[in-house]
Amino acid sequence: MATLKYFESTLRSKELLKYTISFIGNHRLSANPINYTVCYEYLLGGNLGLNQVIDKAISDNSPLTDQMMGAWFEAYLSGSGQADVGQSQADLMGVISKLNDFVTVAEKDVNQFNQALRSSENELATSKNSLESVVADLLLNTRTMQVSMEMMKQQMQESKQEITYLKERLEKATEEALTDPLTSLTNRKGLAKAIDRVLLEEDIKIYPCLLMLDIDHFKKINDSFGHLLGDRVIKVVANTVGNQIKGKDTAARYGGEEFCVLLPETEPGDAVKVAENIRLAIEKTRINRSSDNQEICRVTISIGVARYNPEVNEPTMSMFERADNALYQSKNEGRNRVTFAE
Ligand code: GH3
Ligand code: MG
Ligand code: MG
Repeated sequence: MATLKYFESTLRSKELLKYTISFIGNHRLSANPINYTVCYEYLLGGNLGLNQVIDKAISDNSPLTDQMMGAWFEAYLSGSGQADVGQSQADLMGVISKLNDFVTVAEKDVNQFNQALRSSENELATSKNSLESVVADLLLNTRTMQVSMEMMKQQMQESKQEITYLKERLEKATEEALTDPLTSLTNRKGLAKAIDRVLLEEDIKIYPCLLMLDIDHFKKINDSFGHLLGDRVIKVVANTVGNQIKGKDTAARYGGEEFCVLLPETEPGDAVKVAENIRLAIEKTRINRSSDNQEICRVTISIGVARYNPEVNEPTMSMFERADNALYQSKNEGRNRVTFAE
Protein backbone atom coordinates (compact mmCIF):
# COMPACT_ATOMS: atom_id res chain seq x y z
CA MET A 1 0.00 0.00 0.00
CA ALA A 2 2.94 2.27 0.58
CA THR A 3 3.09 3.27 -3.09
CA LEU A 4 -0.50 4.46 -3.38
CA LYS A 5 -0.50 8.25 -3.36
CA TYR A 6 -3.47 10.49 -3.97
CA PHE A 7 -3.25 14.07 -5.09
CA GLU A 8 -6.90 14.78 -5.99
CA SER A 9 -8.65 17.78 -4.48
CA THR A 10 -11.09 17.07 -1.65
CA LEU A 11 -13.95 17.87 -4.01
CA ARG A 12 -12.71 15.46 -6.68
CA SER A 13 -12.10 12.71 -4.10
CA LYS A 14 -15.68 13.12 -2.81
CA GLU A 15 -16.97 12.87 -6.36
CA LEU A 16 -14.90 9.68 -6.84
CA LEU A 17 -16.32 8.34 -3.55
CA LYS A 18 -19.85 8.66 -4.98
CA TYR A 19 -18.90 6.88 -8.22
CA THR A 20 -16.95 4.20 -6.33
CA ILE A 21 -19.93 3.41 -4.10
CA SER A 22 -22.28 3.17 -7.05
CA PHE A 23 -19.72 0.99 -8.95
CA ILE A 24 -19.50 -1.38 -5.95
CA GLY A 25 -23.32 -1.45 -5.78
CA ASN A 26 -23.84 -2.00 -9.52
CA HIS A 27 -21.38 -4.89 -9.59
CA ARG A 28 -22.78 -6.39 -6.36
CA LEU A 29 -19.37 -6.37 -4.71
CA SER A 30 -18.72 -6.31 -0.97
CA ALA A 31 -18.03 -2.81 0.30
CA ASN A 32 -14.67 -3.77 1.78
CA PRO A 33 -11.54 -1.56 1.70
CA ILE A 34 -9.83 -3.70 -0.98
CA ASN A 35 -12.79 -3.44 -3.36
CA TYR A 36 -13.06 0.26 -2.55
CA THR A 37 -9.39 0.84 -3.40
CA VAL A 38 -9.57 -1.15 -6.64
CA CYS A 39 -12.75 0.70 -7.77
CA TYR A 40 -11.37 4.08 -6.75
CA GLU A 41 -8.12 3.46 -8.64
CA TYR A 42 -10.09 2.20 -11.65
CA LEU A 43 -12.29 5.31 -11.70
CA LEU A 44 -9.23 7.50 -11.20
CA GLY A 45 -7.83 5.88 -14.33
CA GLY A 46 -4.10 6.23 -13.65
CA ASN A 47 -3.28 2.51 -13.52
CA LEU A 48 -3.28 1.35 -17.13
CA GLY A 49 -2.91 -2.39 -16.46
CA LEU A 50 -5.69 -2.41 -13.88
CA ASN A 51 -8.03 -0.46 -16.14
CA GLN A 52 -7.36 -2.82 -19.05
CA VAL A 53 -8.26 -5.98 -17.08
CA ILE A 54 -11.39 -4.44 -15.55
CA ASP A 55 -12.52 -2.99 -18.89
CA LYS A 56 -11.98 -6.39 -20.49
CA ALA A 57 -13.96 -8.23 -17.80
CA ILE A 58 -16.78 -5.67 -18.14
CA SER A 59 -16.81 -5.86 -21.94
CA ASP A 60 -16.83 -9.69 -21.67
CA ASN A 61 -19.86 -9.37 -19.37
CA SER A 62 -17.99 -11.38 -16.73
CA PRO A 63 -19.40 -10.66 -13.29
CA LEU A 64 -16.75 -9.03 -11.09
CA THR A 65 -16.20 -10.97 -7.88
CA ASP A 66 -14.48 -10.21 -4.58
CA GLN A 67 -11.83 -12.81 -5.46
CA MET A 68 -11.06 -11.14 -8.78
CA MET A 69 -10.88 -7.76 -7.08
CA GLY A 70 -8.52 -9.23 -4.49
CA ALA A 71 -6.29 -10.70 -7.18
CA TRP A 72 -6.21 -7.38 -9.08
CA PHE A 73 -5.43 -5.54 -5.87
CA GLU A 74 -2.47 -7.88 -5.31
CA ALA A 75 -1.32 -7.67 -8.92
CA TYR A 76 -1.74 -3.98 -9.63
CA LEU A 77 -2.05 -2.05 -6.37
CA SER A 78 -0.53 -3.69 -3.33
CA GLY A 79 2.77 -2.64 -4.79
CA SER A 80 4.45 -5.54 -3.03
CA GLY A 81 6.89 -5.67 -5.93
CA GLN A 82 7.27 -2.10 -7.08
CA ALA A 83 7.27 -0.63 -3.56
CA ASP A 84 10.14 -2.90 -2.53
CA VAL A 85 12.15 -2.00 -5.61
CA GLY A 86 11.64 1.70 -4.89
CA GLN A 87 12.42 1.30 -1.18
CA SER A 88 15.59 -0.73 -1.82
CA GLN A 89 16.74 1.80 -4.41
CA ALA A 90 16.08 4.65 -1.97
CA ASP A 91 17.96 2.80 0.81
CA LEU A 92 20.92 2.18 -1.52
CA MET A 93 20.97 5.87 -2.43
CA GLY A 94 20.97 6.63 1.31
CA VAL A 95 24.04 4.44 1.91
CA ILE A 96 25.82 5.97 -1.08
CA SER A 97 25.12 9.47 0.21
CA LYS A 98 26.37 8.44 3.71
CA LEU A 99 29.55 7.07 2.11
CA ASN A 100 29.94 10.33 0.24
CA ASP A 101 29.78 12.19 3.58
CA PHE A 102 32.46 9.91 5.09
CA VAL A 103 34.73 10.50 2.13
CA THR A 104 34.26 14.29 2.42
CA VAL A 105 35.18 14.17 6.14
CA ALA A 106 38.18 11.91 5.43
CA GLU A 107 39.32 14.28 2.67
CA LYS A 108 39.21 17.19 5.13
CA ASP A 109 41.27 15.18 7.67
CA VAL A 110 43.85 14.26 5.02
CA ASN A 111 44.15 17.92 3.98
CA GLN A 112 44.63 18.98 7.60
CA PHE A 113 47.27 16.30 8.05
CA ASN A 114 49.07 17.47 4.93
CA GLN A 115 49.03 21.04 6.20
CA ALA A 116 50.38 19.90 9.57
CA LEU A 117 53.20 17.99 7.81
CA ARG A 118 54.04 21.03 5.71
CA SER A 119 54.15 23.34 8.72
CA SER A 120 56.38 20.85 10.62
CA GLU A 121 58.68 20.73 7.58
CA ASN A 122 58.76 24.52 7.61
CA GLU A 123 59.52 24.67 11.31
CA LEU A 124 62.35 22.16 10.89
CA ALA A 125 63.82 24.12 7.96
CA THR A 126 63.67 27.44 9.75
CA SER A 127 64.67 25.81 13.11
CA LYS A 128 61.93 27.93 14.71
CA ASN A 129 61.05 25.25 17.29
CA SER A 130 63.04 22.55 19.00
CA LEU A 131 63.22 19.14 17.30
CA GLU A 132 61.35 17.55 20.25
CA SER A 133 58.39 19.86 19.94
CA VAL A 134 58.21 19.38 16.13
CA VAL A 135 58.30 15.56 16.57
CA ALA A 136 55.69 15.76 19.36
CA ASP A 137 53.41 17.78 17.04
CA LEU A 138 54.00 15.30 14.23
CA LEU A 139 53.17 12.36 16.52
CA LEU A 140 49.98 14.03 17.70
CA ASN A 141 48.83 14.78 14.16
CA THR A 142 49.71 11.25 13.01
CA ARG A 143 47.69 9.76 15.86
CA THR A 144 44.70 11.98 15.06
CA MET A 145 44.98 10.87 11.46
CA GLN A 146 45.16 7.22 12.55
CA VAL A 147 41.97 7.55 14.60
CA SER A 148 40.22 9.25 11.71
CA MET A 149 41.33 6.49 9.27
CA GLU A 150 40.29 3.77 11.74
CA MET A 151 36.81 5.32 11.98
CA MET A 152 36.65 5.61 8.22
CA LYS A 153 37.60 1.91 7.86
CA GLN A 154 34.89 0.87 10.31
CA GLN A 155 32.27 3.00 8.55
CA MET A 156 33.32 1.57 5.19
CA GLN A 157 32.94 -1.98 6.53
CA GLU A 158 29.48 -1.24 7.91
CA SER A 159 28.47 0.36 4.60
CA LYS A 160 29.81 -2.63 2.67
CA GLN A 161 27.61 -4.99 4.69
CA GLU A 162 24.62 -2.70 4.26
CA ILE A 163 25.22 -2.47 0.49
CA THR A 164 25.46 -6.27 0.16
CA TYR A 165 22.17 -6.69 2.05
CA LEU A 166 20.43 -3.95 0.03
CA LYS A 167 21.75 -5.35 -3.25
CA GLU A 168 20.23 -8.74 -2.44
CA ARG A 169 16.94 -7.11 -1.41
CA LEU A 170 16.86 -5.05 -4.60
CA GLU A 171 17.46 -8.14 -6.74
CA LYS A 172 14.68 -10.02 -4.93
CA ALA A 173 12.24 -7.10 -5.20
CA THR A 174 13.05 -6.62 -8.89
CA GLU A 175 12.35 -10.31 -9.48
CA GLU A 176 9.06 -10.10 -7.56
CA ALA A 177 7.98 -7.07 -9.60
CA LEU A 178 8.38 -9.14 -12.77
CA THR A 179 6.54 -12.20 -11.44
CA ASP A 180 2.82 -12.96 -11.62
CA PRO A 181 1.68 -13.69 -8.04
CA LEU A 182 -0.98 -16.29 -8.95
CA THR A 183 1.13 -18.55 -11.17
CA SER A 184 4.70 -17.50 -10.33
CA LEU A 185 5.35 -17.19 -14.08
CA THR A 186 6.96 -14.06 -15.49
CA ASN A 187 4.42 -11.27 -15.91
CA ARG A 188 3.82 -9.08 -18.96
CA LYS A 189 6.56 -6.65 -17.95
CA GLY A 190 9.04 -9.49 -17.47
CA LEU A 191 8.14 -10.89 -20.88
CA ALA A 192 8.73 -7.48 -22.52
CA LYS A 193 12.17 -7.37 -20.90
CA ALA A 194 12.95 -10.92 -22.04
CA ILE A 195 11.98 -10.04 -25.65
CA ASP A 196 14.12 -6.89 -25.57
CA ARG A 197 17.06 -8.90 -24.25
CA VAL A 198 16.71 -11.50 -27.01
CA LEU A 199 16.32 -8.96 -29.81
CA LEU A 200 19.18 -6.77 -28.57
CA GLU A 201 21.66 -9.62 -28.83
CA GLU A 202 24.33 -9.10 -31.47
CA ASP A 203 24.65 -11.37 -34.47
CA ILE A 204 21.36 -13.27 -34.09
CA LYS A 205 21.47 -16.40 -36.23
CA ILE A 206 18.04 -17.79 -35.46
CA TYR A 207 15.28 -15.35 -34.57
CA PRO A 208 12.80 -16.02 -31.75
CA CYS A 209 9.27 -17.35 -32.01
CA LEU A 210 6.36 -16.29 -29.84
CA LEU A 211 3.45 -18.49 -28.74
CA MET A 212 0.18 -16.96 -27.57
CA LEU A 213 -2.09 -19.32 -25.63
CA ASP A 214 -5.65 -18.85 -24.43
CA ILE A 215 -7.73 -21.31 -22.42
CA ASP A 216 -10.79 -22.47 -24.36
CA HIS A 217 -14.25 -21.63 -22.99
CA PHE A 218 -12.77 -20.46 -19.73
CA LYS A 219 -15.84 -18.39 -18.91
CA LYS A 220 -17.82 -21.64 -18.74
CA ILE A 221 -15.36 -23.02 -16.16
CA ASN A 222 -15.76 -19.90 -14.03
CA ASP A 223 -19.52 -19.94 -14.43
CA SER A 224 -19.94 -23.65 -13.71
CA PHE A 225 -17.41 -24.15 -10.92
CA GLY A 226 -16.67 -20.67 -9.56
CA HIS A 227 -13.71 -18.31 -9.82
CA LEU A 228 -11.65 -20.13 -7.21
CA LEU A 229 -11.58 -23.24 -9.34
CA GLY A 230 -11.00 -20.96 -12.35
CA ASP A 231 -7.87 -19.68 -10.58
CA ARG A 232 -6.76 -23.26 -9.89
CA VAL A 233 -7.16 -24.08 -13.59
CA ILE A 234 -5.02 -21.05 -14.47
CA LYS A 235 -2.33 -22.32 -12.07
CA VAL A 236 -2.45 -25.86 -13.47
CA VAL A 237 -2.17 -24.57 -17.06
CA ALA A 238 0.71 -22.29 -16.05
CA ASN A 239 2.51 -25.22 -14.44
CA THR A 240 2.01 -27.44 -17.46
CA VAL A 241 3.25 -24.71 -19.83
CA GLY A 242 6.27 -24.12 -17.56
CA ASN A 243 7.10 -27.84 -17.61
CA GLN A 244 7.12 -27.99 -21.40
CA ILE A 245 9.85 -25.39 -21.91
CA LYS A 246 13.54 -25.35 -21.15
CA GLY A 247 16.75 -23.33 -21.10
CA LYS A 248 16.42 -19.81 -22.41
CA ASP A 249 12.65 -20.08 -23.05
CA THR A 250 10.30 -17.81 -21.10
CA ALA A 251 6.73 -18.69 -20.13
CA ALA A 252 4.64 -15.70 -19.07
CA ARG A 253 1.11 -15.00 -17.88
CA TYR A 254 0.02 -12.33 -20.33
CA GLY A 255 -3.39 -11.58 -18.85
CA GLY A 256 -6.33 -13.35 -17.15
CA GLU A 257 -6.22 -16.79 -18.81
CA GLU A 258 -3.80 -15.91 -21.57
CA PHE A 259 -0.19 -16.98 -21.64
CA CYS A 260 2.84 -16.38 -23.87
CA VAL A 261 5.93 -18.42 -24.49
CA LEU A 262 9.05 -16.83 -25.91
CA LEU A 263 11.35 -19.27 -27.68
CA PRO A 264 14.71 -17.66 -28.54
CA GLU A 265 16.85 -19.21 -31.28
CA THR A 266 14.00 -21.47 -32.41
CA GLU A 267 13.07 -22.37 -35.96
CA PRO A 268 9.34 -22.02 -36.76
CA GLY A 269 8.93 -25.79 -37.20
CA ASP A 270 10.36 -26.45 -33.73
CA ALA A 271 8.19 -23.70 -32.21
CA VAL A 272 5.09 -25.37 -33.65
CA LYS A 273 6.29 -28.67 -32.12
CA VAL A 274 6.67 -27.04 -28.69
CA ALA A 275 3.19 -25.50 -29.07
CA GLU A 276 1.73 -28.88 -30.05
CA ASN A 277 3.41 -30.55 -27.02
CA ILE A 278 1.95 -27.90 -24.71
CA ARG A 279 -1.49 -28.31 -26.27
CA LEU A 280 -1.35 -32.11 -25.84
CA ALA A 281 -0.04 -31.88 -22.26
CA ILE A 282 -2.94 -29.58 -21.30
CA GLU A 283 -5.45 -31.80 -23.08
CA LYS A 284 -4.24 -34.75 -20.98
CA THR A 285 -4.36 -32.82 -17.70
CA ARG A 286 -7.25 -33.58 -15.37
CA ILE A 287 -8.58 -31.10 -12.84
CA ASN A 288 -9.62 -33.17 -9.83
CA ARG A 289 -11.51 -32.34 -6.65
CA SER A 290 -9.01 -32.23 -3.81
CA SER A 291 -11.32 -33.98 -1.30
CA ASP A 292 -11.98 -37.21 -3.25
CA ASN A 293 -9.77 -36.86 -6.33
CA GLN A 294 -12.85 -37.05 -8.59
CA GLU A 295 -12.43 -35.38 -11.97
CA ILE A 296 -14.14 -31.97 -12.08
CA CYS A 297 -13.28 -30.80 -15.56
CA ARG A 298 -10.84 -30.95 -18.44
CA VAL A 299 -9.38 -28.01 -20.28
CA THR A 300 -7.98 -27.32 -23.70
CA ILE A 301 -6.09 -24.37 -25.07
CA SER A 302 -5.73 -22.70 -28.44
CA ILE A 303 -2.36 -21.43 -29.58
CA GLY A 304 -1.04 -18.95 -32.16
CA VAL A 305 2.63 -19.03 -33.19
CA ALA A 306 4.56 -16.22 -34.87
CA ARG A 307 8.21 -15.96 -35.84
CA TYR A 308 9.90 -12.57 -35.44
CA ASN A 309 10.38 -11.03 -38.88
CA PRO A 310 13.85 -9.44 -39.06
CA GLU A 311 13.50 -8.50 -42.77
CA VAL A 312 11.14 -5.65 -41.90
CA ASN A 313 12.79 -4.91 -38.54
CA GLU A 314 9.44 -5.86 -37.08
CA PRO A 315 8.20 -3.93 -34.03
CA THR A 316 7.58 -6.36 -31.13
CA MET A 317 3.93 -5.31 -30.98
CA SER A 318 3.43 -6.52 -34.55
CA MET A 319 4.80 -9.99 -33.65
CA PHE A 320 2.26 -10.10 -30.79
CA GLU A 321 -0.53 -9.06 -33.14
CA ARG A 322 0.37 -11.77 -35.64
CA ALA A 323 0.54 -14.43 -32.91
CA ASP A 324 -2.81 -13.16 -31.57
CA ASN A 325 -4.41 -13.35 -35.04
CA ALA A 326 -3.12 -16.91 -35.42
CA LEU A 327 -4.57 -17.71 -31.98
CA TYR A 328 -7.95 -16.39 -33.09
CA GLN A 329 -7.74 -18.49 -36.21
CA SER A 330 -7.25 -21.51 -33.89
CA LYS A 331 -10.36 -20.42 -31.97
CA ASN A 332 -12.41 -19.94 -35.13
CA GLU A 333 -11.37 -23.27 -36.57
CA GLY A 334 -12.68 -25.19 -33.55
CA ARG A 335 -10.21 -24.49 -30.67
CA ASN A 336 -7.72 -26.96 -29.08
CA ARG A 337 -5.33 -26.42 -31.98
CA VAL A 338 -2.13 -24.63 -33.04
CA THR A 339 -1.96 -22.13 -35.91
CA PHE A 340 1.26 -20.70 -37.34
CA ALA A 341 1.16 -17.07 -38.55
CA GLU A 342 2.59 -17.23 -42.10
P1 GH3 B 1 -12.55 -18.62 -25.71
O1 GH3 B 1 -12.51 -20.07 -25.93
O2 GH3 B 1 -13.07 -17.86 -26.88
O3 GH3 B 1 -11.25 -18.09 -25.22
O4 GH3 B 1 -13.64 -18.40 -24.57
P2 GH3 B 1 -13.42 -17.88 -23.11
O5 GH3 B 1 -14.66 -18.18 -22.36
O6 GH3 B 1 -12.18 -18.41 -22.53
O7 GH3 B 1 -13.35 -16.34 -23.41
P3 GH3 B 1 -12.28 -15.28 -22.93
O8 GH3 B 1 -10.95 -15.81 -23.21
O9 GH3 B 1 -12.64 -14.00 -23.58
O10 GH3 B 1 -12.66 -15.20 -21.38
C1 GH3 B 1 -11.75 -15.01 -20.39
C2 GH3 B 1 -12.45 -14.99 -19.04
O11 GH3 B 1 -11.49 -15.21 -18.03
C3 GH3 B 1 -13.06 -13.65 -18.69
C4 GH3 B 1 -12.81 -13.47 -17.21
O12 GH3 B 1 -14.00 -13.61 -16.50
C5 GH3 B 1 -11.95 -14.63 -16.82
N1 GH3 B 1 -10.78 -14.24 -16.02
C6 GH3 B 1 -9.85 -13.32 -16.32
N2 GH3 B 1 -8.90 -13.27 -15.36
C7 GH3 B 1 -9.22 -14.20 -14.42
C8 GH3 B 1 -8.61 -14.64 -13.20
O13 GH3 B 1 -7.55 -14.17 -12.76
N3 GH3 B 1 -9.25 -15.64 -12.52
C9 GH3 B 1 -10.41 -16.19 -12.96
N4 GH3 B 1 -10.96 -17.17 -12.26
N5 GH3 B 1 -11.01 -15.79 -14.10
C10 GH3 B 1 -10.43 -14.82 -14.83
MG1 MG C 1 -8.95 -14.78 -23.20
MG1 MG D 1 -10.28 -18.05 -23.34
